[in-house]
Amino acid sequence: MKRTGLSLILFLACSAIVFGQFKQTPLPYKYSALEPYIDSTTMYIHFNSHHAAYCTNLNKALEKYPELYEKSIVELIQGLNALPADIQTAVRNHGGGFYNHSIFWTMMAPAGTAPMSPKLEKILSESFGSVEAFKIEFEKAAASRFGSGWAWLIKEPSGKLHIISTANQDSPLLPMAETKGKPVLTLDVWEHAYYLKYQSKRAAYIKAFWNVVNWTEVEKLIAS
Ligand code: MN
Repeated sequence: MKRTGLSLILFLACSAIVFGQFKQTPLPYKYSALEPYIDSTTMYIHFNSHHAAYCTNLNKALEKYPELYEKSIVELIQGLNALPADIQTAVRNHGGGFYNHSIFWTMMAPAGTAPMSPKLEKILSESFGSVEAFKIEFEKAAASRFGSGWAWLIKEPSGKLHIISTANQDSPLLPMAETKGKPVLTLDVWEHAYYLKYQSKRAAYIKAFWNVVNWTEVEKLIAS
């Protein structure tokens, strides 16, 4: 009994020390789940090395201002200009990387498990002319992003759907974003996202992505 009590106190003390720090949510599927479109080695390294580093570096940047651990990552990014000046760049880059990857994982699903519903087909056709036209515009945004960055389908405050791309780890949540909105689909076009399998063929990676989009999640995000 005594030992259990002591363990409990130690557990609570340790929990208090790390309380509120940002943590990666586990992937909602296995590393191999998106094969052959996205290979398991890339998924493993992407999650455990790249995404994990953004998380660690975000937590490090906030060490001087532990009260900021209590905010959500969305609040930190949207309120970037109000943060202490000495951590704004770190939150933009590492906080951005932490957030972008967190949502990117949930916007993918094993091939065939989250197909596009007729309702979503209609929504995309109304916004872009056709599903095919939507895909072409998204592919263009992803392919033409120079260097590293992300392609996005966003829902603007007006409700309008819009395709954009951002550099580095920027997102449409940033106060300085040219077009602001809520992300409903995103694609990582940093080389680390595709180089092992596709080498320099970014266009092939973008085409393959359509097989593993979680359209159920996209529809849910558009509706919310
Ligand atoms: Mn990445």
